[in-house]
Amino acid sequence: MRIDLHTHSCVSDGTDTPAEMVAAAAAAGLDVVGLCDHDTFDGLTAASAAAQEAGIRLLPGIEISTVQDGRGVHLLGYGCRPDDPALSAELAVVRHGRQARIPAMLAALAGIGLPIEDDLLAAMVGESPSIGRPHLADAMVAKGYVTDRSEAFARYLDAGRPGYVRRYATPLELGLDLVRGAGGVAVIAHPWGRGAREVLTGPALARLASEHGLDGIEVDHSDHSAADRGALRGLADRLGLLATGSSDYHGTGKTNHPLGLNTTAAEVFDELRRRIAQRAR
Ligand code: AMP
Ligand code: MN
Ligand code: MN
Ligand code: MN
Repeated sequence: MRIDLHTHSCVSDGTDTPAEMVAAAAAAGLDVVGLCDHDTFDGLTAASAAAQEAGIRLLPGIEISTVQDGRGVHLLGYGCRPDDPALSAELAVVRHGRQARIPAMLAALAGIGLPIEDDLLAAMVGESPSIGRPHLADAMVAKGYVTDRSEAFARYLDAGRPGYVRRYATPLELGLDLVRGAGGVAVIAHPWGRGAREVLTGPALARLASEHGLDGIEVDHSDHSAADRGALRGLADRLGLLATGSSDYHGTGKTNHPLGLNTTAAEVFDELRRRIAQRAR
C-alpha cells in the first residue's frame, strides 16, 4: 500500500485541479491520497468523484492555518464534516483574513517598483476561495519580476521580506477543538518544519494531545531532516500519537515535492480511518 496523506489542488495553492491531482496520484501508483487544501473543503467533492473513477481511495482533509505563541502552525484535519457550523464559520474568518491582507501586500510591492494589476492576480487565483502568497508569486512570475515561486518568497513574500503582511490564523487549540468537534482526526503538519519547532516541544505536544485531542504529527515530510524525523517518531511513540508521512504535493507550484515522496504506514492509515468512523457515530 502506498499512502500519501497531504496534497494540494488549485482550490488552494496547488496547480492541478482536484481531478488532475487524483489522476496523477493514481498514475504515480498511490493507493490512497489525502487532499488537504488550505482553509477550504471545496475540492473534496470533485476529488472524491475522480478517485472513484481512478480506482484509488481519497482521504478527505484540510490544512488549517493556525497560530501558537506567535508561530504559524499548519493543522491537518481528516474526515471532518464539511458542513459543521462552527468549523465552517472559523474557516470563513481565516479565508477573509487571506483576502484582507492582499491590498496591503499589493501596495507594498508597488511601493518597491513591482506593481501587479488586480486582473492579473485574479487570473492566478482562478476559482480558489483561498487566496495565498503563492498566487501573488505566480503573478510576479507572469510580470517577469522573479523566475519562480521560491524566488518570490525568498526576496519578497517570506515573513520579514518587503512584501509580507501578516494575516489572521486560528489559535491552535481552537483549531484542534473545531476539528474534533467536526468529527475529524487532528494531525499537526510538518511540526518542526517552519519556525514552529520552539513552540511544538515534547511537553507542548503532550498537553495538546491530553487537553485538546491531538491525534498525530506528520513525521515524514521534506521539511524535516533525518534527525528531526527520528526525534519526532520517538516523541510520537512515547505520546501515543499517530506518525504520518506525505509529499505535500503542490503540482508545479513546488519543486521537489512529487506525489509519494513520503508515505504513511498502512497500520497508521487504518487507525486514522477507524477514528474517523468512530467519530461519525
Ligand atoms: P500563505 O498561505 O499565504 O501564508 O502562503 C504560504 C504557502 O506558500 C504555503 O502553504 C506554501 O505552500 C507556500 N510556500 C511557502 N514558501 C514557499 C516557497 N519557497 N516556494 C513555493 N511555495 C512556498
Ligand atoms: Mn501551500
Ligand atoms: Mn503546510
Ligand atoms: Mn500543505
